[in-house]
Amino acid sequence: MGDDEFSLIARLFAPLAARHPGALGLTDDAALFDGPAGRQWVVTADAVVAGVHFLADDPPELIARKLIRVNLSDLAAKGAEPFAVLLAACFPVGATAEWLDRFASGLKADCEQFGISLIGGDTVATPGPLTLALTALGHVAAGHAILRSNARSGDDVWVSGTIGDGALGLLAATGKAGALGAQAAAALIDRYRLPRPRTVLGRRLIGLVNAGMDISDGLVADLGHICETSGVGAVVEATLIPLSPAAGAAVAAGVGQGLATVLTGGDDYELLFTAPRSSRPQLSALSLELALPLTRIGRIIEGRGVSVVDAAGQPLALGHGGYQHFTG
Ligand SMILES: [Mg+2]
Repeated sequence: MGDDEFSLIARLFAPLAARHPGALGLTDDAALFDGPAGRQWVVTADAVVAGVHFLADDPPELIARKLIRVNLSDLAAKGAEPFAVLLAACFPVGATAEWLDRFASGLKADCEQFGISLIGGDTVATPGPLTLALTALGHVAAGHAILRSNARSGDDVWVSGTIGDGALGLLAATGKAGALGAQAAAALIDRYRLPRPRTVLGRRLIGLVNAGMDISDGLVADLGHICETSGVGAVVEATLIPLSPAAGAAVAAGVGQGLATVLTGGDDYELLFTAPRSSRPQLSALSLELALPLTRIGRIIEGRGVSVVDAAGQPLALGHGGYQHFTG
């Protein structure tokens, strides 16, 4: 790799630690921080592997940014304010200095954009594929984190943004989007490679919602997680699912399994939440303020499981649902 581990850390990663003295310039074994008064730490970790979670020839800046963003999406789901990340990186033995520079520049861009620091981690060389593990820390007012477990019968089910772009973007990025126009394909690939974690929205949902999470495994599977944890069921109206123009074009063109891909594909990184009817006016106002669509797509009911119904109220068959990432 050119640099030894210590010079690699000093050259590429220590500058990203400058925001917080507790990171000790990445020169010590660990970082030291006081918790903000009256707040709880929110901690999450995700590992990604080339050829499983992203394509090995994806641009290194975007690999770095997606790694950060999928973790920030988990913090957003809890209503937490992002604070810092720790990176454990297994770089392939043949990784070039140029590749590493570009990877670090992607980390830097998102550290700046989201106001976070890199406060620690480890780098090793591996004969295997690029493997990256990121731990993200955020904080939330003590006792106010948004949980999966509090959905109530009668709640509305809401999603942010548009659904299905990530899964359709993966199909486009792997040449499986057939007749889709170049502009729509590019828009979907962008959403697949560069998620938009809803960190501002997440914080603003505290007090308005009963339960929430981010959508990473697919809308139906993730709503199923909320239902299972909360001991309730849900009905989603397929015609209410918000689609981007590019996703609408892809569904119309029969890309993948069409609407089933939208409902069960992964990589949306939008927020899925349930809220009482009384929150409707405030959520509509928040959507306008943030210039981010917030869409009611169904309701929480007594019972078990998630059903998706068509315009006539008939259940749609979606196969087993859930997102398996791609295997080649
Ligand atoms: Mg999540």
